[in-house]
Amino acid sequence: MENSNHFGKVYLIGAGPGDPGLLTVRGKSILEKADVVVYDRLVSPGVLSLCSPKAKMVDVGKMPTHHKVKQSEINKLLVKFAVEMPGATVARLKGGDPFVFGRGGEEALELVAAGVEFEVVPGVTSAIAVPAYAGIPVSHRGIATSFHIITGHEKEVDSRKSEVGSDSVILSEVRSTKSKDPSQNLSLDFENLAKCQGTLIFLMGIANMDFIARRLIECGKDPKTPLAFIEKGTTPNQRTVMATLETAGETIVRENVTAPAITIMGGVVELGKTLAWKKNLPLSGKRLVVTRAAKQSSGITARLTALGAEVIETPMIETRNVLPYCHAELPSCIANSSENKVAEPVEFEDLKNFDILAFTSTNGVECFFKQLFAAGYDVRVLAGKKIASVGKITEKKLLEYGIRCDYVPEDHTGEGLGLLLQKVVGDESRILLLQGNLADDTLLKLLPKAIRWTVYETLPVAELPDWKREAIASADAIVFASSSAVENFAQISSLSSFVSRLSFCIGRMTEASAKKHGFETVTSDETTMDSLVKKIVEYYTMGENA
Ligand code: SAH
Repeated sequence: MENSNHFGKVYLIGAGPGDPGLLTVRGKSILEKADVVVYDRLVSPGVLSLCSPKAKMVDVGKMPTHHKVKQSEINKLLVKFAVEMPGATVARLKGGDPFVFGRGGEEALELVAAGVEFEVVPGVTSAIAVPAYAGIPVSHRGIATSFHIITGHEKEVDSRKSEVGSDSVILSEVRSTKSKDPSQNLSLDFENLAKCQGTLIFLMGIANMDFIARRLIECGKDPKTPLAFIEKGTTPNQRTVMATLETAGETIVRENVTAPAITIMGGVVELGKTLAWKKNLPLSGKRLVVTRAAKQSSGITARLTALGAEVIETPMIETRNVLPYCHAELPSCIANSSENKVAEPVEFEDLKNFDILAFTSTNGVECFFKQLFAAGYDVRVLAGKKIASVGKITEKKLLEYGIRCDYVPEDHTGEGLGLLLQKVVGDESRILLLQGNLADDTLLKLLPKAIRWTVYETLPVAELPDWKREAIASADAIVFASSSAVENFAQISSLSSFVSRLSFCIGRMTEASAKKHGFETVTSDETTMDSLVKKIVEYYTMGENA
């Protein structure tokens, strides 16, 4: 066995049942730094969006040819990533808990055999959380003193030479409803299950439930035992369908209960009638795509989520460090031509030539320090210099690096900063502006002797990961807050795959761009987020003529 330190480390992470809020803190922190994420079909887009944008995303719920990757291949894949990527963080992300009918144990055994270090990050299992979201406690004093989690679909028999992971089972649940004889695959001890006084919770059991219910009744379980199917639990599409043991099969057909769903049986189910706490919100069941600039906190996402929507945030631009090979910009009074950029590598040594460093964005601060540290320097190169910031947020960011600002204008604008520096610093002070490539010339005009280093570039996002494309394809609508968002979206996403074509637009300009690109549009009355959110709610609660 080789020394595992030479390999990457694999984390078997439970993603929880769907609601991204149910991912553990530990799981989230690993996903944020993961180099590779190997994920299953059941993992929700909300959880996938928490993964590092730089991570290689590997969908083993489905191969490019739409066949699922076999379990044995997944095992090999995990070993391969760990072996080929020394020091890497490999996240194996599975629905619910990795060790509850998730085949996590098999993957762990394979990692042990290969000498790969691993860690298990348990997840919130659907077996307990999904009933909880339907207001059904799995145990309750006086009603159920135990609960039993059972698979309603076992691994297919070896003679069929097929290996079935948790997600393919779900697919086959749907497919097999009509045809297969489920009893072939099930070796449950119905005699004992029927005697159990506790709550029975079946995962992966919808296709076989008619058979399971009949066998339980045959073995003596009360046909009137209350039962609930909970479909897509904890997601915006959660649905609870109540039945009894004797009406289970017909209810599935009548109500078209589809996977993923769990079946829960026992007296506790009755409590769901009183305790169902999850409200039907105005946007429940709607999947909306929100375009936004990377890293920007998105108020609209929080508001739409609070109204019940599932929001897929899609950044349209990304920032990239450009130091130390950045453009040093000459003072405009010296440069005669309009093309006054000099594509010279910037030397951090040159910082000694400046008295004042002015930052105009948090991105500028982050990119500057990242590059400074990467080049082997630290904050001591700033000793004795005065530091200026355009506003409070940038000032706060500087404080994170241990730097207190000397100058912050009251109005938090570039113009305010220029005027302030004009006033407080002497004519001979040498000012360095640290800005992005899209910064306007306001400061350079007000401070003609200043030099600008472009420390980061803002670029359109080059492409979307597969999971996001798929999430967008099935979304109900896209929310556009600007014409540039429409343009960027049209550039990176193939519209033909977006089935709904409906867009919610802020203002007439955005609407015009969306129309130009073939979207149907519903436009806010005013160009404010409030008005846009109001319009979306009106549309879904009052119909298209709202
Ligand atoms: N490891 C998972 C279970 C994998 S088996 C866990 O701990 O939750 C897959 C089965 O889990 C599905 O067939 C379904 O029965 C159940 N399931 C998973 N997520 C679900 C959800 N959001 N709503 C309802 N059932 C779910």
